[in-house]
Amino acid sequence: MKILVVNCGSSTIKYQLIELETENALAKGKVERIGMEGAVLTHKPFDRDEIKIGAEIIDHSAGIEYVISILLSKNHGVIKRKEEIDAVGHRVVHGGETFSGSVLINDEVLKQIRACIEYAPLHNPHNLRGINACIKLLPDIQQVAVFDTAFHQKMPKVAYIYGIPYSLYKKYSVRRYGFHGTSHYYVANKAAELLKRDINELKIITCHLGNGCSITAVKKGESVDTSMGFTPLEGLIMGTRSGDIDPAVLLYIMSREELTMQQGNTLLNKHSGLLGISGISSDMRDLEEERENGNKMAVLAIDIFCYRIKKYIGAYFASLGGADSIVFTGGIGENSSLIRKLSLSNLECLGINIDDEKNESNSKEATIISKNNSKVTIFVIPTNEELVIAKETMKFINN
Ligand code: ADP
Repeated sequence: MKILVVNCGSSTIKYQLIELETENALAKGKVERIGMEGAVLTHKPFDRDEIKIGAEIIDHSAGIEYVISILLSKNHGVIKRKEEIDAVGHRVVHGGETFSGSVLINDEVLKQIRACIEYAPLHNPHNLRGINACIKLLPDIQQVAVFDTAFHQKMPKVAYIYGIPYSLYKKYSVRRYGFHGTSHYYVANKAAELLKRDINELKIITCHLGNGCSITAVKKGESVDTSMGFTPLEGLIMGTRSGDIDPAVLLYIMSREELTMQQGNTLLNKHSGLLGISGISSDMRDLEEERENGNKMAVLAIDIFCYRIKKYIGAYFASLGGADSIVFTGGIGENSSLIRKLSLSNLECLGINIDDEKNESNSKEATIISKNNSKVTIFVIPTNEELVIAKETMKFINN
C-alpha cells in the first residue's frame, strides 16, 4: 500500500510516498519558494540520486501537480499510474478541541479545519491549500487529516487551563493545545519499543528540538503535559520564538516602542529566541560555531536555551512522578551532542547520567546515550512524522 504524505507550509510542500509494508519512503522531496521567483523542487527517489529542478510554481495547486508529475515521470518517478497512490495523508497543524484523532476528509471536516484557522493563521490556511489541491488532482483517492494537536487532546485540565478567567476558555477556547504531537507520539513509542517495555508502564519525557522546540510529558502512552500552548510560541526558547515570557513584558515593550499588535506578534515570533538573544543567527549550527570562536552572545544564547530545557525536564519529573526515559529528537535534538550534554548536566540527582562518549557518537540511528547505570535511559531517536501520518491514513483506508 502506498500513501502520499503531504505537509504544506506557507511557501513549501514537503512530501513522501511511503510504502507501508516496508515502512520506507519510495520517494521524498520538497517544493520551495512557491509563489516566488526561483521556485525549486528537490526530489529523491529511494534508488537514485537527488535532483533539483527550477520551475515556475505559482501556488500550492501547481506545486502538488508538479509533485505528482515527478512521482510519475519516466526518469525520476517511482510509480506508473496515479491510481497506485492508495491514499493521501495531510499534516494539519491545528485541530482545536474538535479533533482528538485523525479523520477522513469530507466537506464537514474541511469546514471544521477552516474554523481552526483563527487559532493557527500561519499554518492551517496552507494545510488547507494542500488538501484542496490534492482533492482536485486526485479526486478518487481518499484524503486523511492528521493533526499536530491531536496527541495532546487527552491532557488533563490542570495542564491545559490557563490562570485567566475560565469564562474566556468557555467563550474562545483559549487553552493549551500543544503541537509536534505526531513527533512526540512517534519517539515515545519508539523508546518503549527499544526498551522492550509496554508503553502503558512507562513515563517518558520527549524533547523535540528543531526550529520550533517543544517538550512533552508522556504517561502510559498519552501526553499529560506539553510546553507549547495556545500557539507554538510558549515554552522552550526556539530559533526565533521567545518561548515562556512574563505577558506583561510584551505590553510594556509595545507601549515603550509604540508597537502595533502585529509588530508585537512579529517581535516574539520572528525576532526573539536564539536569534534575538545572540543577534547572530536562529540556526544552532551557526551558534555552535560562534561559541567555538568564543563569541559571548552565542555562549549566552546556547546556555539560556539549555537551561530552559533543563527546567522543563525538572517540571515534568514532578508532573510524571519520575521518568523512565528522556528522548531527544528534531534537527538539534538528533544532531547536537553539545545541547544534549548541557541540557542534562548536573541532573544526576534525578538519576540522569549521560555517557559523554555515546553522546558524541552522533549515529543516524536510534541510540541510547546514557550510562549503563543511569536510572533514566536517555535516547536520541530520529523522528518520523511522515510514517505516523501514513499509518494513521492507512487505518481509514482499511476500514
Ligand atoms: P524544523 O523544525 O524546521 O523541522 P529541524 O528539525 O530540521 O527544523 O531543525 C533545524 C535546527 O536543527 C536548526 O537550528 C539547525 O541548526 C539544527 N541542526 C541541524 N543539524 C545540526 C547539527 N549537526 N548540529 C547542531 N544543530 C543542528
